[in-house]
Amino acid sequence: MKLIIDKIGDWKRTNDCGSLRKDDIGREVVLMGWVNRWRDLGKLLFVDLRDRAGLTQVVFDKEFDEVSREKAAVLRSEWVIAVKGEVAPRLAGQENPDLPTGDIEVKVSELKILNETKVPPFQVDGKIDASEDLRLKYRYLDLRRPGLFHNLVVRHRIALAIRNYLNGEGFLEVETPFLTKSTPEGARDYLVPSRVNKGSFYALPQSPQLFKQVLMVAGLDRYFQIVRCFRDEDLRADRQPEFTQVDLELSFADEDAVTDVFEGLMVDVFSKILGYPVSMPFPRIEYEKALELYGSDKPDMRFGMELRDTSEILKSSAFKVFRDAIGEGGVVKAIKVTGGASFSRRELDELNSTVTDSGGKGLFWAKVKPGGWQSPLSKFLTPDSRGRLEERLGAKDGDLIIFVADRAQKANEVLGRLRMEIAKRLHLPKDGTYSFVWVTRFPLLEYDRNEGRYVAVHHPFTAPLEEDIPLLAERPEAVRARSYDLVINGEEIGGGSVRIHDIGLQNQIFRILGIGEEEVKEKFGFFLEALTYGAPPHAGMALGFDRLVAIMVGAESLRDVIAFPKTQRATCPVTDAPSPVDKAQLAELGLSPLCP
Ligand code: ASP
Repeated sequence: MKLIIDKIGDWKRTNDCGSLRKDDIGREVVLMGWVNRWRDLGKLLFVDLRDRAGLTQVVFDKEFDEVSREKAAVLRSEWVIAVKGEVAPRLAGQENPDLPTGDIEVKVSELKILNETKVPPFQVDGKIDASEDLRLKYRYLDLRRPGLFHNLVVRHRIALAIRNYLNGEGFLEVETPFLTKSTPEGARDYLVPSRVNKGSFYALPQSPQLFKQVLMVAGLDRYFQIVRCFRDEDLRADRQPEFTQVDLELSFADEDAVTDVFEGLMVDVFSKILGYPVSMPFPRIEYEKALELYGSDKPDMRFGMELRDTSEILKSSAFKVFRDAIGEGGVVKAIKVTGGASFSRRELDELNSTVTDSGGKGLFWAKVKPGGWQSPLSKFLTPDSRGRLEERLGAKDGDLIIFVADRAQKANEVLGRLRMEIAKRLHLPKDGTYSFVWVTRFPLLEYDRNEGRYVAVHHPFTAPLEEDIPLLAERPEAVRARSYDLVINGEEIGGGSVRIHDIGLQNQIFRILGIGEEEVKEKFGFFLEALTYGAPPHAGMALGFDRLVAIMVGAESLRDVIAFPKTQRATCPVTDAPSPVDKAQLAELGLSPLCP
């Protein structure tokens, strides 16, 4: 039979495919959607009809006239159809308790085929068996799956909850330009050539930083924006070149004003979306302390296993490696693994590789057993120092102590990684639990050896801690910033700072950063001028919205919470962007083609 595509005509959808229940039995309905699955049993043809709301079983039975029955027989997965029919109870024993519509079916009286489909490159229904590349290319098919679609729904609901909350707190959402000037956030800019002003370029914003500060000068008082930002970075791990931030700025505000708003926001969003009770206030830990205790500036606080300095106890031990490390100005730091005495030799070797892979020299271990220590170190340590070590670490029988000797920074870094690796092996972070922590007072500046100058750790508009300002001239690297990062489950999810609103201090920072007067004027002249027209004290923060959604839906990758994500090579798999443009277009922009 020749396939005739029907017109939708005057049919109106009465219901979606997820809402019919027993109460609807007897009603005449019109459903529209995609054929998810079909089963042809000769006399009976079953179709699971799907739309974004769910699945409804529709059945073509013998009362369905022959011609239409024949028409229905050509249906295949992913065809688009409309059916008119009566809601009927499923036969006893045929109910599907896993499906919200599983008590009913729709007995079709009329069918319209609205569109056919090419054979999809992968099956939409059922388990995912296609490569991610293919799924990204045919994103519109992948989005028909409930999992990915659900993520977009939750994303929408989170955005809505954020808007409502911030609106309630007196924040105004203001859009800032995309075609703008560079904002220094430490990445490369995406540049857009200007046709009208040949040879000049806009930069896509790495963040709305300067505009939101200017809005404070304008008296806006409380600004927010759920905003796209663009950073041309080499895409390590899970990053996206364009991503979304919840961006905020407040006037007459200090650190507490900002953290209070974000804490309230997190409490509200987690409770509305997940029904999860987040308690306030979030713990705060200074950057230096975080490194010392967790070996990381984004500590996962869902479990303890804190790093302890054991140098004092071991500095005069008979073990040369420890003695030398401490003698050379280094440290011996240790962690305790509760119940870790059962680790096998192989596991210890693997943990040792974690240490050496992250540039450490290796680890030393001790199993605390009822009869004493089982450890290559035993013979070097007196019973008294073993006792003191156990006490320092709170170790009991059955525990494992791991030591690393190195420069302090390296020992922290290595043990920090080891801590996470061990936690993963022991399944310590419980799924579905969230721990929030503020990491505060990061260094204001760090020395970049490649560039041979200081660079801002956060960005150049971050205020130094008042009491550290005298150090700016002599020891810039020792100056702490009035900055704060929000960390959830060991992931940095956002950060911000109190800003400099004093032009003199801002200029001093630019000088320390080695940015010359001309360059400052060219890049930030408008901003510095704005600061001279009555800038109020202000502070702000931005939170990675994609990352927040990923954490809340438990997605493994940011790609799973973005409708059309980019690949690791910053390409768009749906459109194949970026792509070459023709010479005429380049000429119009005053650009010459790449030399062959
Ligand atoms: N602009 C900063 C960022 O994008 C956040 C802030 O300081 O408000 O990381």
